[in-house]
Amino acid sequence: MPNKLTLAAIFAHPDDEAFGAGGTLAKYAGEGVDVHLITATLGEAGQVASPEITLTQPISALREHELRCACQHYGIELHLLGYVDGQTTIVPQDAAVYKIVRLLRELKPQVVITFGPDGVYGHYDHLAVHRWATAAVQLSGQADCWPEAGPAHAVAKFYHRALPEEQVARMEQMMGHNYVLMESVPFPFVGYPMEKITTIIDARDYAETKLKGILCHASQLAQDNPYRQTGFDLTTDPLFWQETFILVQSQPGIRSAISTNRKEDDLFAGLR
Ligand SMILES: [Zn+2]
Repeated sequence: MPNKLTLAAIFAHPDDEAFGAGGTLAKYAGEGVDVHLITATLGEAGQVASPEITLTQPISALREHELRCACQHYGIELHLLGYVDGQTTIVPQDAAVYKIVRLLRELKPQVVITFGPDGVYGHYDHLAVHRWATAAVQLSGQADCWPEAGPAHAVAKFYHRALPEEQVARMEQMMGHNYVLMESVPFPFVGYPMEKITTIIDARDYAETKLKGILCHASQLAQDNPYRQTGFDLTTDPLFWQETFILVQSQPGIRSAISTNRKEDDLFAGLR
């Protein structure tokens, strides 16, 4: 049994961690797990959605500041890959994967979470990070691959963040549509049927912390964003504080609820 539990989350932009997994990251950090966030870009392509904010610095500096604010609320450590928002598909892919392998070998997480092949709504950076993380988790455990990046480390459990269909339907209700516009083209959110979801993390006790992290990303929150409304009730809606994942890879011999066709309620199930 490992004496120190470590979780690494690999995402593309500042705010992916908060909207996507803020409850999970805060919960595990709050429970004493070492939690690391690897963020690929500084969200340079983002627009300032909030009219109260006047840019006095490059948007990358503002968004890094917002990201560090969220990490502070969640109690997690940030690692930046240093890529530019929107350019992840054109950078040398081996260099990006190498950087993640080096971090995995240094941090030695038993559990890694990242985007699924859907990229939540198919954002190209999300898809690139999904592919990088998938390759890095494979290669990190192979001692003959990049030995200069540190001794091999095998990740025990690898998860994709996956939205349930029900949540996508709820988002459509809240926003009036179910897509994100990228260069005027609608990219719909991808939801998974509940039977495909393997793991449900109940972060109710950390709902307030999750929201604090989301609110750090003020530049990304328009005035009418539901999270900014004073009446937003974070405790009544399980879709806010339950975060769902699909276990896509685990080391042989790890037994958890999935072995008996039930859903896991802990990313470290079978490792404690
Ligand atoms: Zn993103």
